Amino acid sequence: MTPKEAFQKIHSEISVMPTEKLSLREAFGRVLREDIVAQEAIPPFDNSAMDGFAVRADDLTQLPTDLHLEGELAAGEAPNIEVKPGACIRIMTGAQIPLGADAVVPLEWTTEINQETVRIRRKPERGTYIRRAAKDASQGTTVVKSGTRITPPVIGMIAAAGYDKIKVGKSPSVAVIVTGNELHLDMTSPLPPARIYDANGPGLFAQVLEAGAIVPDSEVARDNRDDLADQIRRGMDADVMVISGGVSVGKYDFVQEVLERMEFEKRFWRVRQRPGGPMLFGVLGSQLVFGLPGNPVSSAICFQQYVRPTLLTMMGAVEIHPPRMKAKLGSSVRKKAGLYHFVRGKAKWRESGQLIVHTTGPQASNLYSSLQHANCLIHLEEEAIDPSEGEEVIITPLPWAVIG
Ligand code: AMP
Ligand code: MG
Repeated sequence: MTPKEAFQKIHSEISVMPTEKLSLREAFGRVLREDIVAQEAIPPFDNSAMDGFAVRADDLTQLPTDLHLEGELAAGEAPNIEVKPGACIRIMTGAQIPLGADAVVPLEWTTEINQETVRIRRKPERGTYIRRAAKDASQGTTVVKSGTRITPPVIGMIAAAGYDKIKVGKSPSVAVIVTGNELHLDMTSPLPPARIYDANGPGLFAQVLEAGAIVPDSEVARDNRDDLADQIRRGMDADVMVISGGVSVGKYDFVQEVLERMEFEKRFWRVRQRPGGPMLFGVLGSQLVFGLPGNPVSSAICFQQYVRPTLLTMMGAVEIHPPRMKAKLGSSVRKKAGLYHFVRGKAKWRESGQLIVHTTGPQASNLYSSLQHANCLIHLEEEAIDPSEGEEVIITPLPWAVIG
């Protein structure tokens, strides 16, 4: 099975979560499930872009011209005075443009002669420094579409459109189970011989949160059938189960065997990819179950490539994959023919405008640093053979990284 076929198999099992109403403060990271329609025009009225004076442009054909100052308008104040010929009104940024005025002269273009007289030194055109009503959006138009992931500027736009509560997809719950006798969990005692700290539990937890989902249960199972079965049963109420480790062919890899004794229906095991080759996927009742290989980089990349888009789809997102970009390889890469490689890369813009990508060094799937220092994945398709320096490759940015 290729990564593409594997994701199609997963995708065909996904059901979209029901919706709930949340306040804008709670909605960050979720997916919008209604169209947002501007309740009023944005902005709702013509207003000043500068602190200065509201004027009639026709008064200012000759410069300098002295205008009679007839009042002031602060932001939020409804104008109740009209600007007459030969007059002006002091106006602040964001204040509504008063009747009669058709331009704003910024303070910097003026000299205040006395309390009642302002000398204008530079000529505005009609409309200068006026921000027109509805320039951002007209009343009644859709400003954010259902299916959009809710980011800070999306929240700002929804708020500007006049909403305080919105319909979003419920967050899928993800039971995270890490497995292994080698995992040392008692952090009050020193690391015993032959043991390691659990990297995947906290790492996967964070990846679930980044996707906008939640982790009600995070458990550790030892490499024996009973403990594993217990932990799996405990996690069965969640919408999704992510198990790390124990899915390969080792003598103590019991995940598949234990699942199969339950009503687990396997959809696939093994994908022609590196890292993450022994990945397992199936359904347990209505729950989607991912068995991710235990090497930390395998588990994190399988999550990124398969679990994250699954969670986003469940939440109702339209765009579930990061954008694909073209970059030039900064150094040659070795790969295994027939396998799809997700190489950890660090992409950087050259001054020439060329995007160049280097690998993060040794790519063994136990080397967490190869992922920690990456800002993207380099995609080398099955048929590619050892791409060399200067070749064009496809990369996808990692959701937590910035390409600088
Ligand atoms: P497994 O898939 O169980 O055969 O594990 C493959 C490799 O990943 C082994 O070297 C494990 O020690 C390591 N590993 C498994 N689970 C974790 C974990 N939670 N944190 C760090 N390393 C792990
Ligand atoms: Mg193991």
